[in-house]
Amino acid sequence: MSIAVIGSNMVDLITYIETMPKMGETLEAPDFSIGCGGKGANQAVAAAKLGAKVMMLSKVGDDIFADNTIANLQKFGVNTDYVEKVTGVSSGVAPIFVDPSSQNRILIIKGANNYLKPADIDRAEAELKKCKLIILQLEIPLETVYYAIDFANKHNIPLILNPAPASKALDIDYACKCDFFVPNETELEILTGLPVTSMQEIRTAADTLLAKGLKNLIVTLGDKGAVWLRGNEITHIEPYRVNAIDTSGAGDAFIGCFAHYYVQTKDVEHSMQMASLFAAYSVTGQGTQSSYPDKQAFENFQQ
Ligand code: ADP
Repeated sequence: MSIAVIGSNMVDLITYIETMPKMGETLEAPDFSIGCGGKGANQAVAAAKLGAKVMMLSKVGDDIFADNTIANLQKFGVNTDYVEKVTGVSSGVAPIFVDPSSQNRILIIKGANNYLKPADIDRAEAELKKCKLIILQLEIPLETVYYAIDFANKHNIPLILNPAPASKALDIDYACKCDFFVPNETELEILTGLPVTSMQEIRTAADTLLAKGLKNLIVTLGDKGAVWLRGNEITHIEPYRVNAIDTSGAGDAFIGCFAHYYVQTKDVEHSMQMASLFAAYSVTGQGTQSSYPDKQAFENFQQ
């Protein structure tokens, strides 16, 4: 394996509504669909679609969603030897209500994702040690995130931490021990407690993290591209102009693609450019994983 994602999977339960029912009321909704998501799974699928050899360390529940989640990962070539079922617990699910103006109301039940523990990292140690990169997000217990950071540092495996969803409970000193810290603007603002509405403000916020020993900060800026800060240097990657239809999962697309190219080239700027292009492609289609191009479609898009 070249990339290990230690993270979450979720099942999106998307109900398309006309109006939200009031308390005690029952309404009929026009449509419903199920999608596979979760930040960990999205990032694993993004890298696997490009041909990376990816393994996931993750937990599913013992409900009707478990086998489907595993089959979905396998469909994209993600190794699921370490995706385990937890008895008596639901899978991670996200009931989503979408109104006619495409506004979302989302609930997240982490379910089995809460059961991914440091002992699971120990169990997968032999496989994880063979990986060239580890990716983490914050939809699993923080104790597991910290343990994974220590594991990666101990074995000299580069590590990307995507601090999403942003949690004030994250020990920022611990987080700065990763090789790449990759928040979006909102997450950077929440985690540093500083405004980030301009490049100057991003620089100031970044300096607080770099002063704690962080090697690389990459901030994704939506349709403004992305920036890479290390030491006193800053590199801005221009966005690709596309007709955006649905930006959900763009950050996950960016990280999965970045990981794939970084493992191959160790060239951060080039990997960010490819990630920017890949994420731009993803916003031109509906959904998360379904909007990510495979290797062939991505090559065609580059021409
Ligand atoms: P998140 O999904 O975590 O909020 P961002 O919105 O920052 O992340 O998007 C991640 C990356 O996706 C950006 O750095 C950019 O490369 C790309 N991207 C997002 N929105 C657009 C857009 N409207 N047009 C082109 N690229 C986009």
